[in-house]
Amino acid sequence: MNTAADTLESLMTSWGGETLVLRRDKPTGAWLIVALYSTRANGSGGGTRMRVYPDLSAAVRDAQRLAEGMAAKFAICRMAFGGGKAVIALPSGFAEHERPALLRRYGELVQSLSGRFVTAPDVGTAPADMDIIAETGAPYILARTEATGGVGDSSGPTAVGVLAGIQATCAVVFGDASLSGRRILVQGAGSVGGRLLELLAEAGAEPLFSDVNPEAIARYRDQAGYTFVDPNAIYDADCDIFAPCALGAVLNAATIPHLRCQAVAGAANNQLATPDDANRLRERGILYAPDYVINLGGAMGLVGLERLGWTRAEANQRVATAVAEALGEVYALADREHSNTFAAAQRIVEQRLHEETPAP
Ligand code: NAD
Repeated sequence: MNTAADTLESLMTSWGGETLVLRRDKPTGAWLIVALYSTRANGSGGGTRMRVYPDLSAAVRDAQRLAEGMAAKFAICRMAFGGGKAVIALPSGFAEHERPALLRRYGELVQSLSGRFVTAPDVGTAPADMDIIAETGAPYILARTEATGGVGDSSGPTAVGVLAGIQATCAVVFGDASLSGRRILVQGAGSVGGRLLELLAEAGAEPLFSDVNPEAIARYRDQAGYTFVDPNAIYDADCDIFAPCALGAVLNAATIPHLRCQAVAGAANNQLATPDDANRLRERGILYAPDYVINLGGAMGLVGLERLGWTRAEANQRVATAVAEALGEVYALADREHSNTFAAAQRIVEQRLHEETPAP
């Protein structure tokens, strides 16, 4: 809930980031917001979220919070890239036919930042939108469609990173990184979860999944033959690892007491409903892979592929190594300090953000 205290002034003074760019798009009444939390040697990066917000304060706060999250993601994998995020806050009743022109005007704003911010898809935008934004915003627009020379969406490297994170988690929980015979339950067989199911099967695991989309169910249950778990029964399902790959806030006071797994390690953003849910998991003896650590492969892979000249094979290898190393550090610190893993990850990020800018 916003309060009257959420003035632009209070939003800026309570935020640790550097710069907020705010423009009103007069033809549509949309707000274009770019939050630069930190601009390191290579500028800053983050997705463009496009949706309706209750008011401007809520949109600014979301951009600021998401930019901070991106800074954490790049810091924890030691990328010389700052965190940023853009929000296009649409007016309610926005007419879809105005979308291309709005995206082009937004591209001009990104262009005017001269590389201090590069962007990619987020909730409400897709590679096809990046194609349009790039008409005016190139070369600062990542994840355009492959048809226009981009690398498309980032779900591939994200899934590769999550697989490596699950292996690193198994190494701690079971003393063996092998996935052979492990029952891994994936919630949401979408872009990331679907690819993860395939990678798990290739690695010898026993993949289980849940989804609400009939097409996903047909593809992964009926065609691929993976075990389907009813979405209403998912938090009670017996498995080795639970991998949320759909919604946020799925780890909360209502679900955690039901979980029958040794660890939670999945791609979904903002899995914890509240920071205290990390303690709830710890008290139940369930190891939690902090979401922004295990899902960093999307951001890292995109920057590597499009800005640093990595091949796909190199991106996958670097992502897998980065996720495994970062999670290893998080688990070790949590163990040493008897804290939950979310708090340990935050401490590592704070320390890294104050370090010298590392090499790319
Ligand atoms: P997606 O929309 O392609 O897939 C989500 C899937 O979850 C869909 O198949 C949907 O039907 C299913 N789903 C929705 N509600 C469900 C429910 N109640 N139970 C089970 N399944 C349900 O999204 P995605 O790109 O695969 O991303 C998945 C998650 O990972 C999101 O939280 C996203 O923010 C996060 N993430 C994605 C990337 C990326 O590269 N795409 C990177 C980092 C984090």
